[in-house]
Amino acid sequence: MKKILIPAIIIILLGVFVFVSGQKPNTSPEPQEIAGEPQTTTPSEDISQTCTGEAIPQLTEGPYYTPGSPERKSFREDNAPGTPLILTGYVFDTDCNPITNAWIDFWQADGEGNYDNAGYTLRGHQYTDANGFYSLETVVPGQYPGRTEHIHFKIKATENSPVVTSQLFFPDGKGNATDAIFDESLIVNMGEDVEGVKQATYNFVVGSK
Ligand code: FE
Repeated sequence: MKKILIPAIIIILLGVFVFVSGQKPNTSPEPQEIAGEPQTTTPSEDISQTCTGEAIPQLTEGPYYTPGSPERKSFREDNAPGTPLILTGYVFDTDCNPITNAWIDFWQADGEGNYDNAGYTLRGHQYTDANGFYSLETVVPGQYPGRTEHIHFKIKATENSPVVTSQLFFPDGKGNATDAIFDESLIVNMGEDVEGVKQATYNFVVGSK
C-alpha cells in the first residue's frame, strides 16, 4: 500500500506546485506610469540640493491678472489650444526648507497667445502639499506681441507673507532674446516628453516672512 501511496502523494504535490506556478501573473518589473497624469507628492531624497537659496526675482504682473481664480491643479478641462504641459516642482524658503501650504496662483495665455479676460480659462490657484510640492497640468503658452512665451504666477509662502509676483519662461522661447521682461533665472527645466505631453520643472525660492 505504501508503495503506491508515496508516489501518489509526490504526484499530487507536483501537480499543486505546477498549478500554483501557473497562477503567477506576468508582471513587468517596472510599474507603468499613466501617461499625462500629474505627479503627486514623490519627493526625492535630495530635494534641497535643487534649491538655490536665492529668492526668485519679481517681475511685472502685466495687464491680464484676474483675482479670485478657482482652486485647481489642472487646466485640462479648459480645452485650451496648445501643446499639453505638466509643470511640477517645490516651493522653498531661502534656507531651502520646503514650504507647506504655500499659495500659488497661475495665469497664462493659451498656445495661440490669447488670454481669457472674461473667465478663468488657464487660471487657477493651488496650495503646496506637506512636502512643498505643486503640480500644474496646462498647455505651453504662445507668444503675443512684444512678449516671449511665459506663465505668470503669484506666490504667498504663508497667510501673512507678502505676495511674490513673477513669470516663468521656457528654454526654447522664441522671443526670449528680444523680451525686455525675460529673466533667465526663471527658465523652467524641460524633461523628456511623455506621450506628447511636455514635462517642465521649476523650484520656487521665496522668503517665508
Ligand atoms: Fe502675459
